[in-house]
Amino acid sequence: MGILDRFLRAAHFSGGVHPDDHKRPAADAPLRVMPPPARVYVPLVQHIGSPARAVVAVGDLVKKGQRIGEPQGAVSAAIHAPTSGRVVAIGDIVAPHPSGLPVRGITIASDGRDEWCELEGCDDPFALDPAEIGRRVAQAGVVGLGGAAFPSAVKLSGGLGARVELLIINASECEPFLSCDDRLMRDRAAEAVDGIAIMLHATGAREARIGIEDNKPEAIAAMRVAVAGQSRIRVEVIPTRYPMGSEKHLILVLTGREVPAEGRPSDIGVVVHNVGTAMAVRNAVRFGRPLVSRLVTVNGACVRQPGNVEVPIGTLAGEVLAFCGGLRADHGGPARLLLGGPMTGMQVPTLEVPVIKGTGGILVLDAAEVGEGEGGPCIRCGDCMRACPVGLLPLEIAARVRAGEVEKAAGFGLVDCIACGCCAYVCPSRIPLVQFFHHAKGELAARARGTQRNETIRTLTRAKAERLERDERDKAEALARRTAASLAAATEAAAAVEKAAARTNEESGACA
Ligand code: SF4
Ligand code: SF4
Repeated sequence: MGILDRFLRAAHFSGGVHPDDHKRPAADAPLRVMPPPARVYVPLVQHIGSPARAVVAVGDLVKKGQRIGEPQGAVSAAIHAPTSGRVVAIGDIVAPHPSGLPVRGITIASDGRDEWCELEGCDDPFALDPAEIGRRVAQAGVVGLGGAAFPSAVKLSGGLGARVELLIINASECEPFLSCDDRLMRDRAAEAVDGIAIMLHATGAREARIGIEDNKPEAIAAMRVAVAGQSRIRVEVIPTRYPMGSEKHLILVLTGREVPAEGRPSDIGVVVHNVGTAMAVRNAVRFGRPLVSRLVTVNGACVRQPGNVEVPIGTLAGEVLAFCGGLRADHGGPARLLLGGPMTGMQVPTLEVPVIKGTGGILVLDAAEVGEGEGGPCIRCGDCMRACPVGLLPLEIAARVRAGEVEKAAGFGLVDCIACGCCAYVCPSRIPLVQFFHHAKGELAARARGTQRNETIRTLTRAKAERLERDERDKAEALARRTAASLAAATEAAAAVEKAAARTNEESGACA
């Protein structure tokens, strides 16, 4: 497929927006590595799925990369110490979440040595069985670094089971302000491509395509050089348009094929991984290094030195900001603090929250960047509907949510909403549509959990009643058996007595 086809295809996918990307100058600053802070705060849930279980105790000495959280269940991820030091607390830490509510986590006081534990690497990952690669990726606690934080090993193994033909590497980084994938490809292209080759081997796919938006010419050039010797990996330039990084849109633009409604990419033989994840997979398989750091974009008009930084997981976002020079003194104060991008990221009340595996950005925006002004009622202009890349009616969904009718909102396609934020971005009344949708999805999930719980209680109650009934029946049958046995014994005894009496009578008669 030629570049023209991809652009035509993008022109035909409905909706989407072209926000100012605000990626420079952060994208142009060289990548920097942040040393471990005095303390790291490591939540036990940083991924989609069940929280990990702490396997260290307060007072334990740990090395960098040592496992401190054991995954629980099929969809979960291991957690490792981001630096060496002593465990000083296990308990509640402030979550990197708008609620500011606590989550369970492990606090480690650094010993300043940043000393790795013993690691199990591999010189030739291509000689490994694909299942073994999946095992090593799981051991390393690798999750999708594009923001979803889904355990990567599950997706790699899913690829094996689902006969994946095409591996798509999402390097579109379509969200404004973020440039950590761009910077990764510019500075570490050869390593990223090595990771992609390992993933190709692990999934069993025939080829890999790396989708990069055309606003990243330096990354495109670097990746083209890096794939030069790889016959099964190629770089594909795609148009810059938000939300190009959404899985289904990226697949459509790169292959011309649509993922079925309510289906998954694997249904059409495709698996999508982020380019940062490919790097993490390489580190896990070649060097046995767990995911203990990640690249984070620090950006926004209030930041003194915007750029991209490799940050130990668990570092407070405020310390990362300080590493980037802190706040500009010559600027008005921050109007909004965000973890992630402005379209899909989380607004947080404070930067005293830790960077986790899914944190791609720390944004400190001023009032002009936020563009806040007086909001107003819906004027039914339909802009949100035209911007929605999924073809939903955001105004109708929001109206149902506002009325507390989340089931009706679900009927209008709430569950298909990918929370891209295009509708809120274009809304002239500045209605926080995505916040409504997040709230309603949470409500639906809670109701589903409630229904599930009630169903479980009903099933358990039914099982208990059946067990009691069975016990009663068994008891009655046992009693009947015992009674019958007693009766039989009594009858037998009576017969014996009768027989003995008869014999005695006979003997008495004989004597007489
Ligand atoms: S864009 Fe905003 S004002 Fe216009 S219809 Fe949608 S919700 Fe209403
Ligand atoms: S947030 Fe949801 S409703 Fe709004 S544009 Fe994106 S997919 Fe459509």
